Amino acid sequence: MGAAGSKLEKALGDQFPEGERYFGLENFGNTCYCNSVLQALYFCVPFREQLLEYYAIHKNGVDAEDNLLTCLADLFTQINSQKKKTGVIAPKRFVQRLKKQNELFRSYMHQDAHEFLNFLLNELVDILEKEAQAAKKEEETSLPSEKTANEPKNPQANGVKKEPLVTWVHKNFQGILTNETRCLRCETVTARDEAFLDLSLDIEQNSSITSCLKNFSSTETLNAEDKFFCDKCCSLQEAQKRMKIKKPPHILVIHLKRFKYIEQLGRYKKLSYRVVFPLELKLSNTDEYSDSEYSLFAVVVHVGSGPNHGHYVSLVKSHNHWLFFDDENVDMIDESAVQTFFGSAQEYSSNTDHGYILFYESLGANKS
Ligand SMILES: [Zn+2]
Repeated sequence: MGAAGSKLEKALGDQFPEGERYFGLENFGNTCYCNSVLQALYFCVPFREQLLEYYAIHKNGVDAEDNLLTCLADLFTQINSQKKKTGVIAPKRFVQRLKKQNELFRSYMHQDAHEFLNFLLNELVDILEKEAQAAKKEEETSLPSEKTANEPKNPQANGVKKEPLVTWVHKNFQGILTNETRCLRCETVTARDEAFLDLSLDIEQNSSITSCLKNFSSTETLNAEDKFFCDKCCSLQEAQKRMKIKKPPHILVIHLKRFKYIEQLGRYKKLSYRVVFPLELKLSNTDEYSDSEYSLFAVVVHVGSGPNHGHYVSLVKSHNHWLFFDDENVDMIDESAVQTFFGSAQEYSSNTDHGYILFYESLGANKS
């Protein structure tokens, strides 16, 4: 542990960023899916800062019951406050809590990193929403009684559905998609908005993120068995449907659908397709934010040829250096090495290390 740490410190020399910590995470038996995602999230700086702040505010809480949020905040604080600049930390409390919380993650089987990320973010949102509700209730009950007696009851009370709360998880990761359907008979457009914390994209051989995003928002015709019920025509009609990013998120998380169910095989197969992901990404299929620019800061990589086994590692950009996190080990890599994780142009290749989840941060400062 000391040797690996000092190697990285030597490599960085006096370029070691002030106040930054590069710690590997111990593996507790196939927990690389968790470690790789945690590293990507740790180097998502606005998210890390929120967690550190959360920890600072809540560390003396009386109702100190563990949940995934407190365990994650505790882990990030532990890493951040290490005296040494490099080393290894055991995310034991977090992993224990994760296994307690969700039986899916309890086995020692190979797990899906994207499933874990999605579960974690949604769980954090739930906890923050519950806390906000509890704080609000407390505020309401502490109001002077005459006021509550004379004033009309708050329509939001009594379990009536209220405006969804925007937590800092949302502020970092949430974007809005709009699903537009145009009736081909009367031309009426029906739009339905949908929030997302990450985008799952279908992939093709020898493609790029930009082309995958284009396919994602391409127009699809609904006809034959699949007609659309138009409210204006009051009947089933042919229609055109398309998905657009209405509001891009601050942190854009893209999940490449590399694990595909193949009916003929009766099982999942890993697609090792070469999908180029640029260091700087321009989103052009958005509504009002015509050209949102993003910079790549983390990649969760799946290593292996099949969906049920293999390994996860992550690439992280921190202070203009690229680092390679493989459980306990942390190494520096060249920026040019990122392209070796695009995938394989041939079906059978000895390179089985493929970019699986991409993390981009918006370069626009105050776009949301
Ligand atoms: Zn119509």
